[in-house]
Amino acid sequence: MADRYLSLTGTAPGRFLTRRLGLPQPAALHRWSPDRPALDGPVLHLTAGPSSLDLAPVLARTGLTVTTRRPEDTVGDPADGSARPAAVVLDATGVRDVDTLAGVHAALHPVVRSVAPSGRIVVLGAPLDPADHHQSAAQQALEGFTRSLGKEIGGGRTVNLVRLTDAGAAGSTLRFLLSPRSAYVSGQVIDVLAAGGSAPQADAPQADPGRPLAGRTALVTGAARGIGAAVAETLARDGARVVVLDVPQAEQDARSLADRLGGTALTLDVTAADAGERIAAELPDGLDVLVHNAGVTRDRRLVNMPAERWSSVLDVNLASVLRTTDALLAKGTLRPGGRIVATASIAGLAGNAGQTNYGASKAGIVGLVRSLAPRALAEHGVTVNAVAPGFIETRMTAAIPLFLREAGRRMNSLAQGGLPVDVAETTAWLADPASGAVNGQVVRVCGQSLLGA
Ligand code: NAD
Repeated sequence: MADRYLSLTGTAPGRFLTRRLGLPQPAALHRWSPDRPALDGPVLHLTAGPSSLDLAPVLARTGLTVTTRRPEDTVGDPADGSARPAAVVLDATGVRDVDTLAGVHAALHPVVRSVAPSGRIVVLGAPLDPADHHQSAAQQALEGFTRSLGKEIGGGRTVNLVRLTDAGAAGSTLRFLLSPRSAYVSGQVIDVLAAGGSAPQADAPQADPGRPLAGRTALVTGAARGIGAAVAETLARDGARVVVLDVPQAEQDARSLADRLGGTALTLDVTAADAGERIAAELPDGLDVLVHNAGVTRDRRLVNMPAERWSSVLDVNLASVLRTTDALLAKGTLRPGGRIVATASIAGLAGNAGQTNYGASKAGIVGLVRSLAPRALAEHGVTVNAVAPGFIETRMTAAIPLFLREAGRRMNSLAQGGLPVDVAETTAWLADPASGAVNGQVVRVCGQSLLGA
């Protein structure tokens, strides 16, 4: 279902009219394409407070020109046309109290107006120090700052906070956030921390940086259409051999997608008791990336919800995810270095009328991820993360009645729905071999939805 309002505000008369009426002003987002794979401009590297982070090698690998400005440098507004940044990285890891927090304002206030449309602001913070409430207050302040700036900046620009201890371990995360691939990810706080005190994985340059998943096998459930199909395509673009799994009724779509991507199709219902065993039998050489995307809705208010509507949604969206994950970890099908990415939803974070079953199932995914992530990494070398989509333009959302659909589309900082590819790009970043220090995260792909924010 095309977003006609977005097309209207893309024209001069439409922009004039909607502005006069005080209506939302969505900007056309710059998404990744082979013709425009990078942001259109330099990245400005700023610092607030003292920092020992060595960002230079990581920023160099974004492919963007880097301009570094220390706090002591005289700051002018680069809106004079000399260097309009497409991205700003503010290193605030050294912010330890309210005084050093002022450095965040000092660094960003003069430049925020000049950030190019569809630009990126990435704030880097440090983990909260439980022994220092001044440091914790100042670092937590960065979260409120980031989310507030995301809501006011406009123009398709995004603002995210990454908490890190080691710049190298955050390389894949910064490359994602400083690229058009993260077009619909805003207002997020992402922890990139070496789990259990283990050494962070080095961000070694790969043989083919355009195909980080080369030589890896990925299985995507519910991949015959919608978000799952986009995930399969994006993982294949990044070099993975993809297994397209869907129900037997969707066999034709699953096969034609698998053929197009040079992968294979596997038709089975993920709720089958032996689903894990059948997947393992299909992949005797092992699996590197497991994407739990299959999901269903059976909406009814609780007063009208028969037990069958409850159990079918819980079974597809949660119980089958738990069963297959357990089976594939126990059998060793998921190889060390493996990645599990499960699909939650903002309905699981914020709740949604008519979706007690769906909201429960998706909140369950968050619980699964948070609990399993540290153990799966320690025992199997596998990371476990979730994507939580907001309003994504698919068949699922096209079926929502018109006014509710319009509200769903506009109620986020980017004032538009996301596309399946936005969820797919986020999944591909989490699946990247270089994302080993990203574990136990629930990353919303929601344009900073107002729901549950
Ligand atoms: P969709 O209905 O278009 O696609 C879901 C796919 O899963 C279908 O191909 C379906 O056949 C398959 N599937 C369903 N039950 C299955 C089973 N038992 N075994 C195997 N395959 C099964 O949905 P979508 O919009 O692409 O959503 C994909 C995921 O994203 C779901 O988990 C959904 O809950 C989640 N999500 C979607 C949105 C959105 O706005 N579209 C928002 C939040 C979360």
